[in-house]
Amino acid sequence: MRWHTRMPHSLDSEFVREQLELRAVPLAKRAPTQGEYVLYWMASTQRFEENWALRFATLEADRLGLPLLIHHGLDPSYPYASDRVHAFVLQGARELAARAREMGLAYRFALRRTRDDDRRVVDRIASRAALVVTDLFPTAGVLERTLRFADRVACRVVMVDSVGIAPAAEFPREQSAAFQMRARLLKGLSTYLEEVEDRAPRRALGESVLASLDVEWLDLERLDITREIARCEIDHSVGVVSNVEGGLRAARTRLEEFVGDGLDAYDERRRDPSDEDGSSRLSRWLHFGMIASAEVVRAARAHAPPPVLDSFLNEIVVWREMSLNFCLRRSDYMKLRATPQWAQRSMAAHKDDERAVIYSLEELETGKTGSELWNASQQELVQSGTMHNAVRQLWGKSVILWKRRYGDAFRTLLHLNDKYALDGRDPNGFSGIQWCFGRFDRPFPERAVWGTIRPMSLERARSKYDTQSYIQRWSGATCDPPAAAG
Ligand SMILES: Cc1cc2nc3c(=O)[nH]c(=O)nc-3n(C[C@H](O)[C@H](O)[C@H](O)COP(=O)(O)OP(=O)(O)OC[C@H]3O[C@@H](n4cnc5c(N)ncnc54)[C@H](O)[C@@H]3O)c2cc1C
Repeated sequence: MRWHTRMPHSLDSEFVREQLELRAVPLAKRAPTQGEYVLYWMASTQRFEENWALRFATLEADRLGLPLLIHHGLDPSYPYASDRVHAFVLQGARELAARAREMGLAYRFALRRTRDDDRRVVDRIASRAALVVTDLFPTAGVLERTLRFADRVACRVVMVDSVGIAPAAEFPREQSAAFQMRARLLKGLSTYLEEVEDRAPRRALGESVLASLDVEWLDLERLDITREIARCEIDHSVGVVSNVEGGLRAARTRLEEFVGDGLDAYDERRRDPSDEDGSSRLSRWLHFGMIASAEVVRAARAHAPPPVLDSFLNEIVVWREMSLNFCLRRSDYMKLRATPQWAQRSMAAHKDDERAVIYSLEELETGKTGSELWNASQQELVQSGTMHNAVRQLWGKSVILWKRRYGDAFRTLLHLNDKYALDGRDPNGFSGIQWCFGRFDRPFPERAVWGTIRPMSLERARSKYDTQSYIQRWSGATCDPPAAAG
């Protein structure tokens, strides 16, 4: 299913040129070098549709009269590398390989199975490129890796932003007031949602060039994913989520279900933990860039009138872009010092408050606390790689009460979220966990341990919603107990 607002712009249009001026960030400003192709190193935007890096790379390849090579890779060294994440990425890549063939794109995938395997595949490919284009993404180590790479290679490197609906460059400074960002984002929304007709580059890449690169490309279309990931040096205790597939097809299926059943009553249904389909559940595909948030918003706008839509736009446009802005503009997004001054003062004042109960990492990780609801939410995370929107806040807030230090609680949440969640290591995760400690929030009346940070009570949630079916669903399920982190 495709959603159109009006006639799409051509790739060579003024609209695309203007967007790319905002979205393309040159990293290594070197003199143009000779090369055999333009390389698009796909990282966090794992799709061909609405991919501004791919658009930029295609236009540059045409301008230089060169073919385009799309290289995508996966290695075992990213934090929390697991069967779960590997399978999701490989499922998406398999679909991309099939789509690339139909679309006339030269897309190749390299899998580094162990840390000792060939480390410099992308450097080798880049050494014969006239230009390298890659994705901009502030978290999951992508930005740091890209900057190191740009320092090493001889050619120009350009990082292109396809993460949000708006170009991130429109917000060059940290935005701490959601209402200001909301007003600007919603005003520009129709422009951000304009469509572009994508096309393949004019020159095709010869097989002989690919063969001469001496890279072991993965045969994705004949890949046995289970067998392949068993050979990888990754955490096999975080298992594949069997009923969720990576890739655009699965994301579009879920999107279609959600606009058909969920969106109309989103504001209410997303608060009910027992209602599995009350929110879009698209965050895992959005995290890997397998679907563009612009496509999701277009679909939602085509279906629902503005009052119904507001609440959904508030999350997928406003809070998602606020999180992106936060992680792009604050290098300390993984530190508690990114919370506001009032929250830091409160944590300093209440650091020695008596905690009624302390749980170890193992007790938390295996869901063995005194709260059935919390344990169920942790089980949902461990087993399904996600957590219901309504309980995610309670899950995060509760750990503040259960650790002797705020810093321990913060690091524990980052660890659990990033280890198990398919949407982990995302700007939204860092901002969500920061929110638990007061970021993007206001002070509340003072109380023990919480200080002036907004309190939240598991017991109150239990009396407000029918949490019983949620608890039964996740506590009763069996799974391999996860290995506790050291
Ligand atoms: C402690 C804690 C940890 C979190 N960790 C993550 C995480 O690792 N990854 C992640 O994507 N989100 C995280 N969130 C934010 C939010 O809970 C999830 O994005 C949302 O629950 C995903 O479910 P959904 O796709 O059904 O969202 P929907 O309600 O359908 O919303 C649609 C999309 O909007 C975005 N969105 C929704 N809520 C928020 C929010 N509060 N802030 C920013 N963007 C939002 C997401 O991209 C989401 O997929 C966290 C929140 C908290 C409080």
